Amino acid sequence: MTTIFGGIHSVETMGTVDGPGIRYIIFMQGCLLRCQFCHNPDTWKIGTGTKRTAEDVFKEAIRYREFWDNSGGGITVSGGEPLLQIDFLIELFTLCKKAGVHTTIDSCGGCFTRDPIFISKLDKLLALTDLILLDIKQIDPEKHLKLTTKSNAPVLDFAHYLRDKNQPIWVRHVLIPAKTDDPTDLQKLHDFISKLPNVKKVEVLPYHTMGVYKWEQLGIRYPLEGTPTPNKEMIKLANKILETDKYAKVQVNKK
Ligand code: SF4
Repeated sequence: MTTIFGGIHSVETMGTVDGPGIRYIIFMQGCLLRCQFCHNPDTWKIGTGTKRTAEDVFKEAIRYREFWDNSGGGITVSGGEPLLQIDFLIELFTLCKKAGVHTTIDSCGGCFTRDPIFISKLDKLLALTDLILLDIKQIDPEKHLKLTTKSNAPVLDFAHYLRDKNQPIWVRHVLIPAKTDDPTDLQKLHDFISKLPNVKKVEVLPYHTMGVYKWEQLGIRYPLEGTPTPNKEMIKLANKILETDKYAKVQVNKK
């Protein structure tokens, strides 16, 4: 195995919201998008972060294994955008699979491309990946561009690629008043998701402002200043339109 260093932003030893069970979350450094609601703007800069080998990260993570095994959990890579460091992910998940650890990637798919080199690496990675948490931020192309500074075409193409590979995914949608809660957009998102038989769960994530202090620390103006968090009715409606309750509590088996 060649030694590849990953740029790591941080880790969370006992995560409970990024995949099934209790999970060790590795936040990778670097992202192509600039989501207005991002709660991790400190992960944006590409090429920085603490340089660590997959072996080093894995050895530290595996110390928490007893928590995963009793909860159906495992390891999740998040970010930032983890797929920007695909070579590192392949090394890390190779170690995970040798040890029988459940593996999850939290991605928005913004860097997805049909470039043959990327696809050959992605296929290797998918063979080692149990679950993908796919963040679809806006189904409307123009609103997506405004909200994230990038097109949603690669994101939707990534979803189709994962469908064709029959890769289990959870779709996640951050609900932001006046940005991503329009019932027409939600209906379009629902229609898109309903054509993906590999979707095992759909989650509505209510917008929150817990990361705003990071924007202030970085000296960047927070674009959603004054945007309220969604109320119970908005959340209920979004769940209804996206039919989130249709997805029974499914287990995503290990590969
Ligand atoms: S994709 Fe994630 S990390 Fe990147 S800007 Fe958007 S919310 Fe932040």
